[in-house]
Amino acid sequence: MSDCLFCKIAAGQIPADKIFEDDCALVFRDISPQAPTHLLAIPKKHYPSVHEIPPDEVGTLLGKLMTAVTTALRKTDLDKNGYRLVVNSGEIAGQTVPHLHIHVLGGRSLAWPPG
Ligand code: AMP
Ligand code: ZN
Repeated sequence: MSDCLFCKIAAGQIPADKIFEDDCALVFRDISPQAPTHLLAIPKKHYPSVHEIPPDEVGTLLGKLMTAVTTALRKTDLDKNGYRLVVNSGEIAGQTVPHLHIHVLGGRSLAWPPG
């Protein structure tokens, strides 16, 4: 998608503070962090949200995305200290960028239930 912010970041057209990158996924720091560590993990292929991934691609795409997340967790030491993964889907859930992304939050206490 030529007008998608995260597609542009994935393509290197907009800079990002990258934590991990491979051929399928990218993990970078959120520009407006809501916790001491706040990362975003995205697939390079554009889908607005998880339910829009074709069924025959779900396992591979999310498997590779979660592999990128686990690598980033180890790199940032969140694996030792605790963290939360969040996917906002749709306006009602607070999604502002319509390109699937997993928020990775850590470094402070996180209340439950979320707002
Ligand atoms: P969401 O509201 O779940 O769609 O999350 C979108 C996230 O993208 C927000 O936390 C924003 O702070 C973040 N964001 C927006 N623009 C950028 C950018 N250029 N680089 C990094 N993060 C961004
Ligand atoms: Zn996109």
